[in-house]
Amino acid sequence: MQNFNTIIALQATLNEWRKKGQKIAFVPTMGGLHQGHLSLIDVAKKYADRVVVSIFVNPAQFAEGEDFGTYPRTMEEDLALLEAQGVDCVFTPSAEAIYPDGMTLDVDVGAIGQILCGQTRPHFFNGVVQVVRRLFEIVRPDVAVFGRKDYQQLHIVKHFTSGVEIVSGEIVRETDGLAMSTRNQYLSKGERKIAPQLHKILGQIERRELDVKSAAEQLQRYFKLDYLELLDANTLKKITDNTSKIAILCAVFLGPTRLIDNIIFRRENV
Ligand code: AMP
Repeated sequence: MQNFNTIIALQATLNEWRKKGQKIAFVPTMGGLHQGHLSLIDVAKKYADRVVVSIFVNPAQFAEGEDFGTYPRTMEEDLALLEAQGVDCVFTPSAEAIYPDGMTLDVDVGAIGQILCGQTRPHFFNGVVQVVRRLFEIVRPDVAVFGRKDYQQLHIVKHFTSGVEIVSGEIVRETDGLAMSTRNQYLSKGERKIAPQLHKILGQIERRELDVKSAAEQLQRYFKLDYLELLDANTLKKITDNTSKIAILCAVFLGPTRLIDNIIFRRENV
């Protein structure tokens, strides 16, 4: 596995592969890797001859007071995991390489970036699209893989990037149902025991054992509720007669840690 931290060195290798007619799949990450990230690499392999993973903690998607400074940075472990997973090449750029003109935020995804997670993190999706566009410009992949765990992010990336096929990977969960996340490391032992209630309660909505109002009340027994919404999974707008898939989307705070999760299901189950 090759590891590049400069754009020039990375592109020289990518060009070699392209010359041979090889297809390139790309998995952008912020490191702190877990099985969820690794599952995206397996998806990537199905779509291409070569898999490139980036590790870059993107300052543009953190607001003042968020966890940019303390976000888990586990480069050595990450590289070992990627090598074992059969990744061809890792890109670990500096912030200067990604933002040579400084970090002026020149992307605005509009209203879709202000709902759901955008209510508490209004800067977030603009920062995500900014870095994804920049990484796509550098890597020029044929395919890029994103996790359904970050469902709104996946939806926005599909709508606000072009020229790259966007594919998605299933949510990978711990055995007790908690969606894997780098930020799960922030949970205390006691919090970690409570955290699976999030997925459990969303499952009860899907199975119609709980309506949204009672589910919100249940969630509030364990968490500080950020949002809980049922929307059309294709549009992220209100459910209409034309809705075929429903998204249950939720974010909660457990102590200082923010957890997100979702369940997508076909309408006939409702
Ligand atoms: P991050 O490093 O958190 O920015 O995530 C990088 C990619 O991994 C994103 O496309 C995420 O949606 C995806 N991802 C994170 N957690 C999971 C998970 N538990 N299952 C599947 N994909 C995930």
